Amino acid sequence: MTVRERKYCRVCGGAELRQFLDLGEQPPANALLRAEEIDLPEAKYPLALSHCEGCSLIQTTHVVSPEVLFRNYLYFSSVSQAMAKHFAAYAAQLAERFVPPGGLVVEVGSNDGILLRTLLGRPLRVLGVDPARNVAEVARSRGVPTIADFFTEGLSKQIRKQEGPASVVIANNVVAHIDDLDQVMRGLDQVLDERGVFVMEAPYVVPFLEHLEFDTVYHEHLSYFGVRALESLANRFGFEVFEVQDQPVHGGSLRVFWRRRGAGGEPVDESVPRHLEQERQAGVADRARLDDFAQKVAGLREDIRRLVRELRAKGKRVVGYTAPAKGNVLLNYCELGPHELEYLADATPAKQGLYSPGMHIPILSPEHFRHDRPDYALLFAWNHKDEILEKEKAWRAAGGRFILPVPKVEVV
Ligand SMILES: [Zn+2]
Repeated sequence: MTVRERKYCRVCGGAELRQFLDLGEQPPANALLRAEEIDLPEAKYPLALSHCEGCSLIQTTHVVSPEVLFRNYLYFSSVSQAMAKHFAAYAAQLAERFVPPGGLVVEVGSNDGILLRTLLGRPLRVLGVDPARNVAEVARSRGVPTIADFFTEGLSKQIRKQEGPASVVIANNVVAHIDDLDQVMRGLDQVLDERGVFVMEAPYVVPFLEHLEFDTVYHEHLSYFGVRALESLANRFGFEVFEVQDQPVHGGSLRVFWRRRGAGGEPVDESVPRHLEQERQAGVADRARLDDFAQKVAGLREDIRRLVRELRAKGKRVVGYTAPAKGNVLLNYCELGPHELEYLADATPAKQGLYSPGMHIPILSPEHFRHDRPDYALLFAWNHKDEILEKEKAWRAAGGRFILPVPKVEVV
Protein backbone atom coordinates (compact mmCIF):
# COMPACT_ATOMS: atom_id res chain seq x y z
CA MET A 1 0.00 0.00 0.00
CA THR A 2 1.54 3.33 -1.02
CA VAL A 3 -0.72 5.58 1.06
CA ARG A 4 -3.06 4.99 3.98
CA GLU A 5 -5.08 7.11 6.33
CA ARG A 6 -3.89 6.94 9.92
CA LYS A 7 -6.85 6.07 12.16
CA TYR A 8 -5.00 6.27 15.48
CA CYS A 9 -2.64 8.77 17.05
CA ARG A 10 0.98 7.55 16.85
CA VAL A 11 1.75 9.01 20.28
CA CYS A 12 -1.17 8.03 22.53
CA GLY A 13 -3.06 5.53 20.36
CA GLY A 14 -6.25 7.64 20.61
CA ALA A 15 -8.85 7.36 17.84
CA GLU A 16 -10.28 10.87 18.10
CA LEU A 17 -8.44 12.53 15.25
CA ARG A 18 -9.92 15.61 13.63
CA GLN A 19 -8.64 16.99 10.31
CA PHE A 20 -8.29 20.79 10.30
CA LEU A 21 -6.00 21.66 7.37
CA ASP A 22 -6.15 20.40 3.78
CA LEU A 23 -3.34 21.31 1.34
CA GLY A 24 -4.81 19.18 -1.46
CA GLU A 25 -3.29 16.31 -3.40
CA GLN A 26 0.45 16.84 -3.75
CA PRO A 27 3.41 14.97 -5.21
CA PRO A 28 6.21 14.12 -2.74
CA ALA A 29 7.91 17.48 -2.16
CA ASN A 30 11.42 16.14 -2.81
CA ALA A 31 10.58 14.19 -5.99
CA LEU A 32 12.26 16.48 -8.52
CA LEU A 33 11.71 15.42 -12.13
CA ARG A 34 14.02 14.92 -15.08
CA ALA A 35 13.00 16.59 -18.37
CA GLU A 36 11.81 13.28 -19.86
CA GLU A 37 9.53 12.68 -16.83
CA ILE A 38 7.45 15.85 -16.92
CA ASP A 39 4.96 14.51 -19.48
CA LEU A 40 4.44 11.24 -17.60
CA PRO A 41 1.66 10.78 -15.05
CA GLU A 42 2.83 11.91 -11.61
CA ALA A 43 1.77 10.27 -8.34
CA LYS A 44 0.02 12.64 -5.91
CA TYR A 45 -1.14 11.93 -2.39
CA PRO A 46 -3.42 13.79 0.04
CA LEU A 47 -1.57 16.29 2.22
CA ALA A 48 -3.59 17.26 5.29
CA LEU A 49 -3.19 17.68 9.04
CA SER A 50 -5.22 16.17 11.86
CA HIS A 51 -5.21 16.89 15.54
CA CYS A 52 -5.47 14.30 18.35
CA GLU A 53 -8.09 15.20 20.94
CA GLY A 54 -6.28 13.00 23.46
CA CYS A 55 -2.64 14.15 23.59
CA SER A 56 -2.78 17.22 21.26
CA LEU A 57 -0.38 15.76 18.67
CA ILE A 58 -0.74 17.25 15.20
CA GLN A 59 0.05 14.72 12.48
CA THR A 60 -0.49 14.25 8.75
CA THR A 61 -3.83 12.57 8.12
CA HIS A 62 -2.18 10.17 5.66
CA VAL A 63 1.05 8.20 5.68
CA VAL A 64 2.83 7.63 2.37
CA SER A 65 5.13 4.62 2.11
CA PRO A 66 8.79 5.58 2.72
CA GLU A 67 9.76 3.62 -0.39
CA VAL A 68 7.76 6.08 -2.48
CA LEU A 69 9.08 9.14 -0.65
CA PHE A 70 12.73 8.22 -0.66
CA ARG A 71 12.94 6.55 -4.08
CA ASN A 72 14.16 9.74 -5.72
CA TYR A 73 15.96 10.97 -2.66
CA LEU A 74 18.94 13.11 -3.52
CA TYR A 75 21.70 13.25 -0.97
CA PHE A 76 23.23 16.66 -0.35
CA SER A 77 26.28 16.80 1.86
CA SER A 78 26.54 20.57 1.88
CA VAL A 79 24.91 22.35 4.79
CA SER A 80 24.90 26.01 5.63
CA GLN A 81 27.58 27.52 7.85
CA ALA A 82 24.94 28.26 10.45
CA MET A 83 23.91 24.59 10.62
CA ALA A 84 27.50 23.34 10.93
CA LYS A 85 28.10 25.71 13.85
CA HIS A 86 24.83 24.66 15.43
CA PHE A 87 25.87 20.98 15.35
CA ALA A 88 29.35 21.56 16.77
CA ALA A 89 28.07 23.59 19.74
CA TYR A 90 25.30 21.09 20.38
CA ALA A 91 27.63 18.05 20.40
CA ALA A 92 30.12 19.74 22.73
CA GLN A 93 27.38 20.64 25.18
CA LEU A 94 26.07 17.06 25.29
CA ALA A 95 29.51 15.51 25.72
CA GLU A 96 30.47 17.80 28.58
CA ARG A 97 27.20 17.45 30.41
CA PHE A 98 26.23 13.80 30.07
CA VAL A 99 29.08 11.59 28.83
CA PRO A 100 31.58 10.08 31.28
CA PRO A 101 35.08 9.14 29.99
CA GLY A 102 34.76 6.19 27.61
CA GLY A 103 30.98 6.67 27.36
CA LEU A 104 29.05 5.84 24.19
CA VAL A 105 27.16 8.41 22.08
CA VAL A 106 24.72 6.96 19.55
CA GLU A 107 23.09 9.13 16.90
CA VAL A 108 19.95 8.02 15.08
CA GLY A 109 19.77 9.49 11.56
CA SER A 110 23.44 10.43 11.74
CA ASN A 111 23.63 11.36 8.05
CA ASP A 112 27.22 11.86 6.83
CA GLY A 113 28.50 12.17 10.41
CA ILE A 114 28.32 15.97 10.49
CA LEU A 115 27.51 16.03 14.21
CA LEU A 116 29.41 13.00 15.52
CA ARG A 117 32.64 13.91 13.77
CA THR A 118 32.88 17.03 15.93
CA LEU A 119 33.23 14.65 18.92
CA LEU A 120 36.16 12.68 17.47
CA GLY A 121 39.24 13.33 19.57
CA ARG A 122 37.29 13.45 22.83
CA PRO A 123 37.62 10.56 25.35
CA LEU A 124 34.35 8.92 24.31
CA ARG A 125 33.00 6.55 21.64
CA VAL A 126 30.59 7.49 18.86
CA LEU A 127 28.29 5.33 16.73
CA GLY A 128 26.05 6.55 13.91
CA VAL A 129 22.91 4.81 12.64
CA ASP A 130 21.52 5.80 9.24
CA PRO A 131 19.54 3.69 6.77
CA ALA A 132 21.05 5.28 3.64
CA ARG A 133 24.02 3.14 2.60
CA ASN A 134 25.77 5.78 0.51
CA VAL A 135 25.49 8.29 3.32
CA ALA A 136 26.76 5.83 5.94
CA GLU A 137 29.73 5.14 3.66
CA VAL A 138 30.60 8.85 3.54
CA ALA A 139 30.41 9.02 7.36
CA ARG A 140 32.76 6.03 7.75
CA SER A 141 35.24 7.59 5.34
CA ARG A 142 35.28 10.60 7.70
CA GLY A 143 36.10 8.43 10.70
CA VAL A 144 32.58 8.07 12.13
CA PRO A 145 31.63 4.39 12.66
CA THR A 146 28.14 4.06 11.18
CA ILE A 147 25.61 1.23 10.88
CA ALA A 148 23.55 1.47 7.68
CA ASP A 149 20.17 0.44 9.07
CA PHE A 150 16.93 1.63 10.65
CA PHE A 151 16.91 2.19 14.41
CA THR A 152 14.75 -0.63 15.76
CA GLU A 153 14.46 -2.67 18.91
CA GLY A 154 16.46 -5.47 17.25
CA LEU A 155 19.31 -3.20 16.19
CA SER A 156 19.43 -1.61 19.64
CA LYS A 157 19.86 -5.00 21.27
CA GLN A 158 22.73 -5.71 18.93
CA ILE A 159 24.38 -2.35 19.71
CA ARG A 160 24.04 -2.92 23.45
CA LYS A 161 25.54 -6.39 23.15
CA GLN A 162 28.54 -5.17 21.16
CA GLU A 163 29.16 -1.69 22.59
CA GLY A 164 27.41 -1.68 25.96
CA PRO A 165 24.75 0.85 26.99
CA ALA A 166 24.77 4.41 25.61
CA SER A 167 25.22 7.48 27.80
CA VAL A 168 23.50 9.63 25.21
CA VAL A 169 21.25 8.84 22.25
CA ILE A 170 20.75 11.74 19.83
CA ALA A 171 17.98 12.04 17.23
CA ASN A 172 18.05 15.23 15.18
CA ASN A 173 15.09 15.87 12.92
CA VAL A 174 14.27 12.20 12.49
CA VAL A 175 11.60 11.46 15.11
CA ALA A 176 9.07 13.66 13.28
CA HIS A 177 9.64 11.53 10.15
CA ILE A 178 9.05 8.12 11.74
CA ASP A 179 5.59 6.53 11.62
CA ASP A 180 6.11 3.77 14.19
CA LEU A 181 7.31 5.59 17.31
CA ASP A 182 6.75 2.55 19.54
CA GLN A 183 9.62 0.86 17.71
CA VAL A 184 11.88 3.84 18.43
CA MET A 185 10.90 3.89 22.10
CA ARG A 186 11.53 0.18 22.56
CA GLY A 187 14.90 0.62 20.86
CA LEU A 188 15.72 3.46 23.21
CA ASP A 189 14.73 1.36 26.19
CA GLN A 190 17.14 -1.35 25.00
CA VAL A 191 20.20 0.75 24.34
CA LEU A 192 20.09 3.60 26.86
CA ASP A 193 22.05 3.32 30.09
CA GLU A 194 20.03 3.40 33.34
CA ARG A 195 21.11 7.03 33.82
CA GLY A 196 21.39 7.80 30.13
CA VAL A 197 19.86 10.74 28.29
CA PHE A 198 17.89 10.81 25.06
CA VAL A 199 17.98 14.15 23.28
CA MET A 200 15.99 14.95 20.18
CA GLU A 201 15.34 17.95 17.98
CA ALA A 202 12.19 18.54 15.99
CA PRO A 203 10.37 21.55 14.54
CA TYR A 204 8.17 23.04 17.28
CA VAL A 205 4.43 23.21 16.84
CA VAL A 206 4.11 26.66 18.49
CA PRO A 207 6.06 28.71 15.90
CA PHE A 208 4.57 26.44 13.22
CA LEU A 209 1.10 27.66 14.19
CA GLU A 210 2.02 31.24 15.09
CA HIS A 211 4.06 31.95 11.94
CA LEU A 212 1.72 30.08 9.57
CA GLU A 213 4.54 27.74 8.48
CA PHE A 214 2.16 25.63 6.37
CA ASP A 215 4.88 25.02 3.79
CA THR A 216 6.77 22.84 6.30
CA VAL A 217 3.91 20.32 5.99
CA TYR A 218 5.04 17.58 3.62
CA HIS A 219 4.54 13.85 3.39
CA GLU A 220 7.86 13.00 5.09
CA HIS A 221 7.10 15.30 8.03
CA LEU A 222 4.55 13.13 9.83
CA SER A 223 4.38 14.68 13.33
CA TYR A 224 4.27 18.33 14.53
CA PHE A 225 5.42 18.00 18.12
CA GLY A 226 4.89 19.99 21.26
CA VAL A 227 6.14 19.12 24.74
CA ARG A 228 2.72 17.89 25.82
CA ALA A 229 2.59 15.24 23.07
CA LEU A 230 6.23 14.22 23.62
CA GLU A 231 5.62 13.86 27.34
CA SER A 232 2.74 11.48 26.76
CA LEU A 233 4.97 9.40 24.46
CA ALA A 234 7.82 9.38 27.01
CA ASN A 235 5.51 8.47 29.89
CA ARG A 236 3.98 5.54 28.03
CA PHE A 237 7.45 3.93 27.92
CA GLY A 238 8.68 4.82 31.40
CA PHE A 239 10.60 7.96 30.40
CA GLU A 240 10.17 11.62 31.32
CA VAL A 241 11.02 14.97 29.73
CA PHE A 242 13.30 16.91 32.09
CA GLU A 243 14.44 19.89 30.01
CA VAL A 244 13.44 21.76 26.85
CA GLN A 245 15.45 24.29 24.85
CA ASP A 246 14.32 26.49 21.95
CA GLN A 247 16.44 26.38 18.81
CA PRO A 248 16.31 29.00 16.05
CA VAL A 249 16.62 26.49 13.16
CA HIS A 250 13.95 25.32 10.69
CA GLY A 251 11.63 28.18 11.64
CA GLY A 252 11.79 27.30 15.35
CA SER A 253 12.76 23.91 16.76
CA LEU A 254 12.69 22.21 20.13
CA ARG A 255 15.53 20.33 21.74
CA VAL A 256 14.03 17.94 24.25
CA PHE A 257 15.90 15.97 26.93
CA TRP A 258 14.47 12.68 28.22
CA ARG A 259 15.58 10.21 30.87
CA ARG A 260 14.15 7.14 32.55
CA ARG A 261 11.53 8.02 35.14
CA GLY A 262 13.04 7.57 38.58
CA ALA A 263 16.62 7.74 37.28
CA GLY A 264 17.25 10.73 39.55
CA GLY A 265 19.61 13.54 38.59
CA GLU A 266 18.71 17.19 38.26
CA PRO A 267 15.11 18.19 39.11
CA VAL A 268 12.77 18.71 36.16
CA ASP A 269 13.69 22.09 34.69
CA GLU A 270 11.28 25.04 34.73
CA SER A 271 11.48 25.04 30.90
CA VAL A 272 9.14 22.02 30.83
CA PRO A 273 6.09 23.63 32.51
CA ARG A 274 6.91 26.90 30.73
CA HIS A 275 6.62 25.24 27.31
CA LEU A 276 3.44 23.43 28.32
CA GLU A 277 1.92 26.80 29.23
CA GLN A 278 3.17 28.32 25.95
CA GLU A 279 1.44 25.50 24.05
CA ARG A 280 -1.79 26.05 25.94
CA GLN A 281 -1.67 29.75 25.10
CA ALA A 282 -0.91 29.06 21.43
CA GLY A 283 -4.02 26.89 21.23
CA VAL A 284 -2.22 23.69 20.23
CA ALA A 285 -5.12 21.66 21.64
CA ASP A 286 -7.84 24.18 20.78
CA ARG A 287 -10.20 23.36 17.89
CA ALA A 288 -11.19 26.97 17.22
CA ARG A 289 -7.55 28.12 17.13
CA LEU A 290 -6.58 25.36 14.71
CA ASP A 291 -9.50 26.22 12.43
CA ASP A 292 -8.38 29.86 12.56
CA PHE A 293 -4.86 28.76 11.51
CA ALA A 294 -6.29 26.91 8.51
CA GLN A 295 -8.32 29.99 7.50
CA LYS A 296 -5.26 32.22 7.71
CA VAL A 297 -3.27 29.77 5.58
CA ALA A 298 -6.01 29.90 2.94
CA GLY A 299 -5.83 33.72 3.10
CA LEU A 300 -2.05 33.62 2.61
CA ARG A 301 -2.57 31.50 -0.51
CA GLU A 302 -4.84 34.16 -1.98
CA ASP A 303 -2.40 36.97 -1.08
CA ILE A 304 0.53 35.18 -2.74
CA ARG A 305 -1.48 34.40 -5.88
CA ARG A 306 -2.83 37.94 -6.10
CA LEU A 307 0.60 39.58 -5.83
CA VAL A 308 2.22 37.31 -8.43
CA ARG A 309 -0.75 37.81 -10.80
CA GLU A 310 -0.57 41.59 -10.44
CA LEU A 311 3.17 41.67 -11.07
CA ARG A 312 2.84 39.49 -14.16
CA ALA A 313 -0.03 41.71 -15.43
CA LYS A 314 2.33 44.70 -15.15
CA GLY A 315 4.86 42.83 -17.30
CA LYS A 316 7.24 42.10 -14.41
CA ARG A 317 9.41 38.99 -14.55
CA VAL A 318 9.06 36.76 -11.50
CA VAL A 319 11.15 33.70 -10.57
CA GLY A 320 11.59 31.54 -7.48
CA TYR A 321 14.70 31.55 -5.31
CA THR A 322 15.87 28.15 -3.96
CA ALA A 323 14.01 24.89 -4.63
CA PRO A 324 13.51 23.26 -1.21
CA ALA A 325 10.72 20.86 -0.22
CA LYS A 326 8.80 23.72 1.38
CA GLY A 327 8.90 25.66 -1.91
CA ASN A 328 7.33 22.77 -3.74
CA VAL A 329 4.56 22.52 -1.14
CA LEU A 330 3.86 26.24 -1.50
CA LEU A 331 3.90 26.12 -5.31
CA ASN A 332 1.52 23.17 -5.47
CA TYR A 333 -0.81 24.59 -2.83
CA CYS A 334 -0.88 28.01 -4.50
CA GLU A 335 -0.93 26.46 -8.01
CA LEU A 336 1.94 28.55 -9.31
CA GLY A 337 3.65 27.10 -12.39
CA PRO A 338 6.10 28.18 -15.13
CA HIS A 339 3.60 30.77 -16.42
CA GLU A 340 3.87 32.59 -13.10
CA LEU A 341 7.50 31.84 -12.12
CA GLU A 342 9.89 31.41 -15.06
CA TYR A 343 12.37 29.27 -13.14
CA LEU A 344 13.72 28.48 -9.67
CA ALA A 345 17.35 29.46 -8.92
CA ASP A 346 19.04 26.96 -6.58
CA ALA A 347 22.72 26.58 -5.63
CA THR A 348 22.64 22.77 -5.31
CA PRO A 349 24.23 21.38 -8.50
CA ALA A 350 22.27 18.08 -8.22
CA LYS A 351 18.98 20.00 -8.50
CA GLN A 352 19.94 22.15 -11.48
CA GLY A 353 18.46 20.96 -14.77
CA LEU A 354 15.60 19.20 -13.00
CA TYR A 355 11.95 20.31 -12.66
CA SER A 356 9.87 21.00 -9.58
CA PRO A 357 7.37 18.22 -8.74
CA GLY A 358 3.74 18.95 -9.62
CA MET A 359 4.19 22.41 -11.12
CA HIS A 360 7.15 21.52 -13.39
CA ILE A 361 9.16 24.73 -13.05
CA PRO A 362 12.75 24.36 -14.33
CA ILE A 363 15.55 24.67 -11.78
CA LEU A 364 18.54 26.76 -12.85
CA SER A 365 21.65 28.09 -11.11
CA PRO A 366 21.99 31.29 -9.08
CA GLU A 367 24.65 32.34 -11.63
CA HIS A 368 21.95 32.26 -14.31
CA PHE A 369 19.72 34.32 -11.98
CA ARG A 370 22.42 36.97 -11.42
CA HIS A 371 23.10 37.24 -15.14
CA ASP A 372 19.38 37.22 -16.04
CA ARG A 373 18.27 39.80 -13.46
CA PRO A 374 14.52 39.18 -13.16
CA ASP A 375 12.40 41.82 -11.37
CA TYR A 376 11.11 39.70 -8.48
CA ALA A 377 12.07 36.45 -6.75
CA LEU A 378 9.75 34.51 -4.47
CA LEU A 379 11.99 33.35 -1.63
CA PHE A 380 11.11 29.84 -0.43
CA ALA A 381 13.96 29.24 2.05
CA TRP A 382 12.68 31.99 4.37
CA ASN A 383 14.59 30.33 7.24
CA HIS A 384 17.85 31.38 5.49
CA LYS A 385 16.53 34.86 4.62
CA ASP A 386 19.39 36.90 6.11
CA GLU A 387 22.07 34.78 4.44
CA ILE A 388 20.30 34.98 1.05
CA LEU A 389 19.56 38.73 1.17
CA GLU A 390 23.24 39.32 1.85
CA LYS A 391 24.30 36.97 -0.96
CA GLU A 392 22.10 38.71 -3.53
CA LYS A 393 22.71 42.27 -2.40
CA ALA A 394 24.03 43.33 -5.83
CA TRP A 395 20.78 42.24 -7.49
CA ARG A 396 18.77 44.02 -4.82
CA ALA A 397 20.87 47.17 -5.16
CA ALA A 398 20.11 47.11 -8.90
CA GLY A 399 16.35 47.08 -8.15
CA GLY A 400 15.63 43.35 -7.70
CA ARG A 401 13.08 42.52 -5.01
CA PHE A 402 12.45 39.42 -2.95
CA ILE A 403 8.93 38.33 -2.09
CA LEU A 404 8.71 36.71 1.36
CA PRO A 405 5.64 34.45 1.47
CA VAL A 406 5.45 33.45 5.17
CA PRO A 407 4.06 34.47 7.72
CA LYS A 408 2.70 37.34 5.62
CA VAL A 409 3.44 38.39 2.06
CA GLU A 410 6.16 41.04 2.05
CA VAL A 411 8.30 42.61 -0.68
CA VAL A 412 11.87 43.48 0.40
ZN1 LIG B 1 -2.70 11.39 20.77
